[in-house]
Amino acid sequence: MEIFWTGVATIAVLLIIFVVLPAMIDSPTKCHEPPLVRYTPEQAHRVTQKLKNCDVGMCEAKACAFRTLCQAGRTVPAPMAKW
Ligand SMILES: [Zn+2]
Repeated sequence: MEIFWTGVATIAVLLIIFVVLPAMIDSPTKCHEPPLVRYTPEQAHRVTQKLKNCDVGMCEAKACAFRTLCQAGRTVPAPMAKW
């Protein structure tokens, strides 16, 4: 009987190492979905304010709003860091 529980524990540990942990690492938490129709600059401005705590790299809605504002000349992206 002891060997049965040792086998169960071994399988559980292997599942955690090869299934659960990689899934936790690889799945970035999706923030807000992008709009179905492109934002107007006014909508993009409101979305940017509403999602001010979202990271542009993680939030597709905020990234879309930011692109719209850039294309409309309402904002200028920060210059890239020079190496
Ligand atoms: Zn978001």
